[in-house]
Amino acid sequence: MSDDVIFRLTGQQHAKLRAHLFPGDGLEAVALALCGRRQGKGRHCLSVSEIILIPHGRCERFPDRVTWLTEFFEPLLVEAAKREMAVVKLHSHPGGYGRFSGYDDRSDRDFFDTTESWTESDDPHGSVVMLPSGKMFGRVGMAGGFQLMTAIAVAGNSIEYWSDDDESYVPDFADRHAQVLGAGTFSKLRRLRVAVVGCSGTGSPTIEQLFRLGVGEIVLIDPDKLGPENLNRILNSRGRHAQAGTLKVDVSAHAIEDTDLGTTVISLPIDICTPEAVETVGTCDVIMGCVDSVFARHLLNKIASTYCIPYIDIGVGLRADGNGGIEHATGAVQYMQPDGTSLLSRNVFSQLDIQSDILRRTDPEEYRSRLNDGYIKGAEVSKPAVITINTIFSGYGVWELLCRMHAIRDDGNPEFANQRWSLSGNIYDHEEDGDRCPVVSRYLGCGDMVPLLGMPELSPGVTPAHANH
Ligand SMILES: [Zn+2]
Repeated sequence: MSDDVIFRLTGQQHAKLRAHLFPGDGLEAVALALCGRRQGKGRHCLSVSEIILIPHGRCERFPDRVTWLTEFFEPLLVEAAKREMAVVKLHSHPGGYGRFSGYDDRSDRDFFDTTESWTESDDPHGSVVMLPSGKMFGRVGMAGGFQLMTAIAVAGNSIEYWSDDDESYVPDFADRHAQVLGAGTFSKLRRLRVAVVGCSGTGSPTIEQLFRLGVGEIVLIDPDKLGPENLNRILNSRGRHAQAGTLKVDVSAHAIEDTDLGTTVISLPIDICTPEAVETVGTCDVIMGCVDSVFARHLLNKIASTYCIPYIDIGVGLRADGNGGIEHATGAVQYMQPDGTSLLSRNVFSQLDIQSDILRRTDPEEYRSRLNDGYIKGAEVSKPAVITINTIFSGYGVWELLCRMHAIRDDGNPEFANQRWSLSGNIYDHEEDGDRCPVVSRYLGCGDMVPLLGMPELSPGVTPAHANH
């Protein structure tokens, strides 16, 4: 296997591991993790679902090695074999040794032999080392040898991204922003695969910023074609695109390719509620949600949790008063961790709103009938949109990504999980994350399942839901 391997965990999982692996006595310690898989094109992701801390008293611990009893190992192997998941062993190097030792080589070979024979598959299992700084590096077992993990990503209050290749190179186009963000952050952006879901009013300025910031790979998802009504706000759109009905993803993809800054594009002109879109977003390092649909936003929340990915939702609320004026102009940027709150638990929408949106997509006739009877609230089909407002909140959304990747804020990030602005009322407020959402994080780190995300709508052969707007 020569695919990139990415290991993902949450900030809370990282903190739990760090406390256990570094108890302060200078001796190594060990833990195990059960991880979900996402096997994408050229990229195999392992996301932590459960952590088993091996008690210090059940290990033989030394400053440069650790041995442990297999009593904790077997139940995990049974579970991993049953659910086609991976087992990852994690241990500490209290002295800060930044590589695998000869002792690690022997111990990992035994570990990989055991996991592979139990699970009876060629899918890789992992071994990860944590250093006193919290930084991690790892490898997977393959064909009797080892392959380094390409990157380890932590989705917490900040986004950590440790790569197997520390080299940082800043091309000329990025020199002005590398002056403030540093070569290190630029290099991290260069290695990221970011999903932008929705390529319209807030999506297109988001894409524009991401590729000009030097993001390495962008996945564009939007099933819609460009029409004349989009020319007021979609960047790089031309009259000829509206006439020809060019796909919105193609308008953005061509602009990225023409600008030639080295960003790779994966374009998916399909609805987010399709197996292919879910699987592709599941391989990404960050999700930028630029859609209005309640169901699509809920789905992105579930993908983020199931595959351990940070999710930034950008929402704009612009309402006309019916007399040519503005009733309100508001926006929100929400940063969500895979094991934190969700849009649902933040009451951005309710279960009933999600159900209504599913009905709108799957049974439009029944939806209209319930709408007419007043049982459900309707989503606005053709909302007002002004490029200035979309661009402001898209800017705040991408700024949030930068704040999470680089130490920008004087007060740190925890207080800024949910930020809201009223441009008409001149109000800004922000709040911290709360308790884990039990609905969305039910499948935390579980990776691929049948059906995907535990949702029958995503079973193979189910007719794709209607396009979002
Ligand atoms: Zn070691």
